[in-house]
Amino acid sequence: MSEAQAIYLKDYKAPAFSIEDVNLRFELFEEYALVTNVMNIQKVDTGVQELSLHCRDLELLEFWINDLKLQDTRYVLEEEKLTILNVPSVFSIKIINKIYPQNNTELEGLYKSGSIFCTQNEPEGFRSITPYLDRPDVMSVFTTTIVADKEKYPVLLGNGNKKESFDLGKRHSVTWHDPHPKPSYLFALVAGDLGSISDEYITASGENVELNIYCDLGNESKCHHAMKSLKEAMLWDEEKYGREYDLEIYNIVAVDSFNMGAMENKGLNIFNSAYVLADEDSASDANFMGIQSVIAHEYFHNWTGNRITCRDWFQLTLKEGLTVFRDQCFSADLNSQEVQRIEDVKSLRERQFVEDASPTAHPIQPKSYISMNNFYTATVYEKGAEVIRMIHTLLGEELYRKATDLYFETFDGQAVTTKDFLWAMSSASGVDLSAFELWYHQSGTPKLKVEEKFENGVYTLTLTQVIPNTVEGRAQKPYFFPLKIALLDEDAKEVVTETLKVSKESESFHFEGFNLKPVLSINRDFSAPIIIEQEYNNFAFLMKHDTNGFVKYEAAQIFAIETIEAIMRGEEVNPRFSEAYGHLLDLEGDLSYKALLLELPTVSTLMQRMSDIDFDVIYEAKEKLSQHLAQNFQEKLLAIYEVNHEPGSFGMDALAISKRAIKNRALKILSALETRDVIEIAKRQYEESVTMTDRVVALDVLENTDPEYAEVTLADFYSKYKKQTLVMNKYFSILAASHREGTLDRVMALQNDAVYDEKVPNLVRSLIGVFARNYKHFHAKNGYGYKFVADKIIEIDKINPQMASGLCGAFKIYNKMNEKNKSMMKVELSRIISTHELSKNSFEIISKILK
Ligand SMILES: [Zn+2]
Repeated sequence: MSEAQAIYLKDYKAPAFSIEDVNLRFELFEEYALVTNVMNIQKVDTGVQELSLHCRDLELLEFWINDLKLQDTRYVLEEEKLTILNVPSVFSIKIINKIYPQNNTELEGLYKSGSIFCTQNEPEGFRSITPYLDRPDVMSVFTTTIVADKEKYPVLLGNGNKKESFDLGKRHSVTWHDPHPKPSYLFALVAGDLGSISDEYITASGENVELNIYCDLGNESKCHHAMKSLKEAMLWDEEKYGREYDLEIYNIVAVDSFNMGAMENKGLNIFNSAYVLADEDSASDANFMGIQSVIAHEYFHNWTGNRITCRDWFQLTLKEGLTVFRDQCFSADLNSQEVQRIEDVKSLRERQFVEDASPTAHPIQPKSYISMNNFYTATVYEKGAEVIRMIHTLLGEELYRKATDLYFETFDGQAVTTKDFLWAMSSASGVDLSAFELWYHQSGTPKLKVEEKFENGVYTLTLTQVIPNTVEGRAQKPYFFPLKIALLDEDAKEVVTETLKVSKESESFHFEGFNLKPVLSINRDFSAPIIIEQEYNNFAFLMKHDTNGFVKYEAAQIFAIETIEAIMRGEEVNPRFSEAYGHLLDLEGDLSYKALLLELPTVSTLMQRMSDIDFDVIYEAKEKLSQHLAQNFQEKLLAIYEVNHEPGSFGMDALAISKRAIKNRALKILSALETRDVIEIAKRQYEESVTMTDRVVALDVLENTDPEYAEVTLADFYSKYKKQTLVMNKYFSILAASHREGTLDRVMALQNDAVYDEKVPNLVRSLIGVFARNYKHFHAKNGYGYKFVADKIIEIDKINPQMASGLCGAFKIYNKMNEKNKSMMKVELSRIISTHELSKNSFEIISKILK
C-alpha cells in the first residue's frame, strides 16, 4: 500500500461549481454498460479556472463541452480525477463512458447481484459510474433513462417518479425524474426480471403513494412483513415528527449481494434481502424485528439524510445517529420500551464500547479518514444515536419536537453540519448545548466514579468523571450529560427521582430528609452512554425491587459479572446471587423482558473488564456459573419451558414471541447440564416446532451438547433449506460459532460447500465473520484461528476490500490480549499489512491496530 493518504475535516472547502441538473442514460449490455452523462454546470467561485471531476477507473469514450467535442489537450484524465482546463462560468458537459458492472466484485457503483443490475453509491461509488462532483454538498436534479433487453430486464427502476417508457423492439427504455435535488450518493438504478408486491399509502395531507417491494421471482410471498413495516414507519413519522413522504412512488428492491444492510436512495431503496424477505417457516423472530427496524430506518432517512443531507462525510453521524435514534424509538413504540432499550444498550456495549477501547477509537465526528468505508461504524451510528437521545432527554419530548421542526424548516434542501443541527436544538429549546458539543469531538467511553455518603439524614452523591485519553495519548475534557437517578427507601419506594445534569470533573449532589440510607438507582434507562464504577451497591435489592426496567436488568448483569469474576479468582458461586436469580425466575410480567433478565453476561462483556485477556479462563468460569444455576433451578426452568412451549403454533404476536423467548432461554440455561433429558427436549423441539426461532435454538443446543444428534439434525436442516440462501446463513453461523472441538476444520471444509460463495457478503459474514467472533476457536492457543482469518482477509481483500476490512475488526483487541496470543496475532497482522497491493480499507484498520 503506497498511497494511503488521509483526508482531513480541517481541509474542507466549499465546492467551486454547482451542477444545476444532470441527465443520465444507461445502456445495459451483458458485457458492459454505456453511460451518457449530460450536466449543466455553473461556476460558484469565479476565481477558479479548471473543473476537477471525481472518477475511478473509467474508460472515457467521448467528451463534449457546449456541443463541442473536446480535444484531449483540454482535459487531463487520471486514475481518480478528470480535470477540464479553462472552463467558462456557465456551460454544459456531455460525457460518454464505458463501465463493466459484471466484473465489479467490490459491490460499489453499478454492479450485478446474480442476474440483477443494481447500485450502491454511498459514500463514493458514483465516481466509478461516471465523472461527477461526487461529494454530498453538490445537490442536483437527476433524470435517468435506462435501456436494456426487454426479456432479461423487464423491470427498470430509477429515483423519483416514472416519466415515460418506450418499446424499442428487443430492448426497451424507461425514464425516471427526481424533482428533489440530491447528492450523487443517493442515486440508484435497478434492472432485472423481478417479482413484486404492491400496496398504497395515503399521506396525512391526502396524497396517494404507490408502494412496491421487488425481489427475486418466487419470493413475493416473503415481502408482506416488510410492506407492513413500511406503512407503520410512514404513519409513525407523520405522527411523531410531522414528516410526510414526498414522491408519487416508493420502491424497495431486495438483492442478495450487498455490503451493508440497506441503502436509502431517494424513492428507490436497495436492500440486502436479509432485511426484506421473511415468512414464519424461514425467518426467526429476530429477523422479523430486524426487518421492521431497517425498513423504518431507510424510510426515515427520506427526511433525515435525503432532504437534509451531510455537508461532507465527516458529518455522517448527522444523518446516521439521528436516524438510528428515530428507528430505535419507532421499534420501542411498536413493541416493548424496556426490551428495545436493553437490546440497544447490549448492542452498543458489544460493538461500540469495544471499538471505543481499541486503537480504532474515534469521535462520532471523526477528524480524518483514509477510507470513508471504514467509518460506517458502531461509533458513528450507535453512539451517535445515544448522543441524540441525550439531547432528547435534556430538552424533553415537547421542546425536542419544536427543535426538530425548526431543523427541518431551516435546512430543508441543504447539505449541513452537526453544528447546524445543534444550533436548531438549542435555539428552539433555549437549552444551552455548547458544553454538550464535546460528545461530537472526543473518543473513548467515559467512566463515572460513584461515591455515596450518608450523614445526619443527608445523602451525598459524589460523581467523578474519568475521561480516557485519545488513541494518540492526548488528554480530553469532562462531558456534559443527563443522568437519571432515583433514591429508593427500604420498601423500594422512589423517594427521589431526578435527572441530574453532570458537567464537572467532580461534583456532589445532596438529598435531605432520610431516616435510613437510601438505595441508589443510577443511569436509569441508560440515560448516558458511560460506564458506572461503584464500590458497592445493593444489586440483589435492585434486581428484586427496582421499578426501572433497565436498572433491574443492569443490577442482574453486574451482580452476575461480579459472581463470575469471583469464580475466576477461585471462589465458589455466591449464594446471594443464586438466591436473587431464583427470584427473577418467579417474576410475573412481560416474558421477553424476563428472558433478558435471566441472560448471563456475554463473554465480550466479561472480556472488556480484563487486561491480559485469556478467554479460556472466562469460558470456564461462566460455564461453572451456568451449571450451578441449571442444577439449582432445574425444576423451575423445566416448568417455565413446559408452560411456554407451544410447538405447533406460528404466531407472530407479542405474546407468542415472548413465550418463545422465555422458553428458549430456559432451554439454553438447562443445556449447561448436558443431561439426556435436556438433549431430548432440544431434539423434540427441533422435530416438532414450526418456527425458525425454535429450530435454530434447538440446533444450537444440540451442536454444543450432543455431536451425534447434531449431525443428524443439521443434515436434515441442510437438505430442507439448501435452496434458501438466507436460511443457510443460519446454518453456517451455528457451525462457525460452535464450541465443539474441530470447529475450525469444519469451517474450512464448509468453504467448499455448494451453497457457499465468497462473493456474497452475507455468506462471508455468517461463516468467516462469525468464526472470527468465536472467541474460543479464533483465539485458540495454537494460533490456527488467527492464521485462517488472516488468510481470508488477504484473499477477500482482492475481491471486496470493504468485506475484508470488516473482518480485520476481529484483531482490534490485540493490545489487550495475553502475551502468548498477542505474539501470535502480531505475526498475522504483520503478514496482512505486508501483502502486495493491500486495499486502503484494510491498510487503515491494520496499521492502526499495530501502531
Ligand atoms: Zn442509515
